[in-house]
Parts: sequence; structure tokens; C-alpha cells
Amino acid sequence: MEYVMTRTTAEWQAADAAHFLHPFTDFQALAKKGSRIITSAENIYLRDSEGHRILDAMSGLWCVNVGYGRQELIDAATRQLRELPFYNSFFQTTTPPAVELAELLAEVMPPGFQHVFYAGSGSEGNDTVVRMVRRYWDLQGQPERQVIISRWNGYHGSTMAGASLGGMKYMHAQGGLPIPGITHIEQPYWWLHGRPAGLCRAEFGKVAAGWLEQKILEVGPEKVAAFIAEPIQGAGGVIVPPETYWPEIQRICDQYGVLLVSDEVICGFGRTGHWFGCQTVGSRPDLITFAKGVTSGYIPLGGVMVGERVAKVLIEQGGEFEHGYTYSGHPVACAVALANIRLIRELKLVEHVHDELGPYLAEQFAQLGEHPLVGEAQTCGAMGALLLVKDRASGEAFPGELEIGMLCRGHCFGNGLIMRAVGDRMIIAPPLVMTLAQVDEMVALIRRCLDLTLADVRARGWMP
Ligand SMILES: *Cc1c(COP(=O)(O)O)cnc(C)c1O
Repeated sequence: MEYVMTRTTAEWQAADAAHFLHPFTDFQALAKKGSRIITSAENIYLRDSEGHRILDAMSGLWCVNVGYGRQELIDAATRQLRELPFYNSFFQTTTPPAVELAELLAEVMPPGFQHVFYAGSGSEGNDTVVRMVRRYWDLQGQPERQVIISRWNGYHGSTMAGASLGGMKYMHAQGGLPIPGITHIEQPYWWLHGRPAGLCRAEFGKVAAGWLEQKILEVGPEKVAAFIAEPIQGAGGVIVPPETYWPEIQRICDQYGVLLVSDEVICGFGRTGHWFGCQTVGSRPDLITFAKGVTSGYIPLGGVMVGERVAKVLIEQGGEFEHGYTYSGHPVACAVALANIRLIRELKLVEHVHDELGPYLAEQFAQLGEHPLVGEAQTCGAMGALLLVKDRASGEAFPGELEIGMLCRGHCFGNGLIMRAVGDRMIIAPPLVMTLAQVDEMVALIRRCLDLTLADVRARGWMP
């Protein structure tokens, strides 16, 4: 509460509007409305400057896996700040936390991952991916293998390379993206692409994976460096692909020798009920991008885990890799990540998601799926989505201009629940420490907000 005492909410808002350009924000619209000022947090609850208690069903931004206020992480940061707040790893130097974290990551990663390249965020991690896969093929004597395939509506960050890999068309529209050598295929979103075509989920999974093969053949297999995807699309709306999708993707990558990159910035560190999402969907990636949950968001850190196939070539034939960041292996970030991963182990959070939280959430979401506004309910581990539709029977969507998601999100905010709207999909990714009683509390809030949204929609005459 210390910060709040120093200024009123209106004063914070005025200063915020005067100087702070927020990410992914219409500056003028926000200035008019005023930001909500989050002042403190504990476990899964936030507090704002007006004293409201808010259940954070989004883990901040998909990252606070161990929940807020964990003393272990705070102590790790403070200790390391006192001992050595910074030193670089460029000049044949290293620091104990960076080494220990590299070792621990190799331990928790799927087999075959023994090396890490550190970055400061998920976007930077994916910039590293672009540099690294192209370098790999250069060293393999196939410099023409430059093209990276990714998916529409995938999210891979907001730097030039990250946004280019991502498939958000509204991002490409600003700043001349994508950069050359990146091309996209359609996403495995059954509701949008499979259902209207009359395909069952299993059939659709294979069809959607087949789009990768078509693209590889169109580009020319000798020109394709890598395919990058999130195991489960996060920012795109928590889209869980059919079970048939990933095995077929793996087969195609194997057949054409294309490197597979698993962007696990959201799916990593227990989110899906395994340590990594590739273990949940059954893929065998060559590179894994991580960030967010690696430190539970307490401090920025990201990076790329490098599997044997690529590591061997980079190390044995590569010479100097002309790439790196000032904060690659930042000792304080690495110390916090170490404490975070140890805590995930100690609290058995991966097991908790796999055995308790995930199955219970799935059950509760299936019930929410019966709500008159909901066309489809999906979960995977500790993430979930509710698709809002105008007509459950026909699957008819609300007209886009009604912004049904934003309407529902408004009710959530007004009722002490943070749930995100992605188009018509209402999504959650709560802290992994969430108890089953807290799931009940969250689901009751979601239900109330769906009811309020339904009443609202009927009052406006959008629905009978
Ligand atoms: C958030 C995210 C990123 C980008 O990470 P930043 O830390 O915001 O740069 C990349 N990939 C995925 C899958 C993400 O969810």
C-alpha cells in the first residue's frame, strides 16, 4: 500500500496518461478512460489503488506460475543483487547463477537438450531462433535453407523477427512486416476451419498439419529452414489443436529435414501439465524458446534451449556465433529463475496441474460450455478458453462490430476477475498454485460474468 498513499488514483492516472505509452494500447482512448493502477498482489489476487481485490486468472501475462509474493524468489533476487548485480558473459566470463541455471534447465528439459542461449525475453529468444537456424543451415552447407514457416494467429513476440514469425495481421500492418524469408500457414483452429467444412476434429488435425507439407513443397524443401509453433496457441486465444495434429507435424518435419521450433514461452514450466508443452502434445523439437514462466515473471528472462542436432553443429563447426545480448545470462534473472524452478519442483506444481488442477478445470469448463452464450469450451492443463457465440446450435458468431469479448471482459473487470478477451474467445491461464477451492471461486465469477453478459446482450436485442 506504500505507493498508493503517495498519490490519489486520479493523480496516478494523469501522470500515466501524460508520460507512459503503454504496449498494444490506443494511447488516446486509454488517457480518456484512465489506467487501472495495480498496487500489490498476493498468491492469485491483485489489489488496485481503489482497494479492490481481483482474482488474476491470467497470471499477470501468462507468467506468474508460482503466484505472487513468494519469498523464495524475493530472497534469491536480493541476495544476488547484493553479491553481484551484473556481469556480462561476452568476454570469456560467466557467473555462478547463469551456470547453475543452464545446468538445471538441462535437467528439467526433455531429453536431448543440454545447452541454453540466454536472452532477455520471449521476443529476443525468437530473434535468436531466426539467427540460429539460419546459421545452422549455413554451417551445414545449405545456405539456401533460409525460410521459416509459422502460423497465422500464432504469437511469437513483438520485435521485428518476433512479430514477423507471429501471425497477427494487425501487427504486420504496422512497420512493413513480415521481414523477408518468413511465411505463414493457417492455424489448426477446428471451430473456424474444420467445423464449417464438416470435418471431425481428428480428420481436421491431419488436414491442418497437411498445410505445412503443402507449404514446404510450394517453397521448395531445399529452401525451408524451420517450422515454429506454440504447442497450444496462447495469445491467439488458447486454441487447443486436435490430437492428430502434432504427430503429423512431426512426421512432416522429419520427412523434409526441417528443424522444429517449439515456442514454449507460455506452455513451458508446467502450464500444460508437463514441464513443457511438447511433452503434452508429443512433439520432438530441435529448439525450444522459453521466457515468462521461467522466472514466474518476477524479473525478465528468456532464451532458447538448443537440442543436440543444432548444438553439435554450432559448437563443433561454428566458430564464433556473432549474436548475443547485454543481458544474456543476467545473474539476478538467473538467480530468480533457479529459485522459481526449484520451487515448482518443491511444490510439485507440474504434478498438481497434471493430476488435480488440469482435470478439475476441464470438468468445470465443460459445465461452463453448457451456458447459452458458449459455443465451445476448451482447456489444456492450466489454460482454457470459452468461445462466445450468438447461436449454439448453428455456431453462428456475433457480428464482429459488437465486440462481444470486450463486453464480457468489462463485466469481468467490474466483478473482480481478470479474464482476457481474444476476439470472441474468453481465456484464462491462472497461476499454477491455484487450489481447487480457488477454481470454484473463479468459475463462479466466470459464470456470473457470462450471465451478466447474456442479460446485456438480450437487453441490447442482439440475441432472443
Ligand atoms: C509472450 C510470448 C512471446 C514474447 O515474449 P516477450 O517476453 O513478450 O517478448 C513469444 N512467444 C509466445 C508464445 C508468447 O506467449
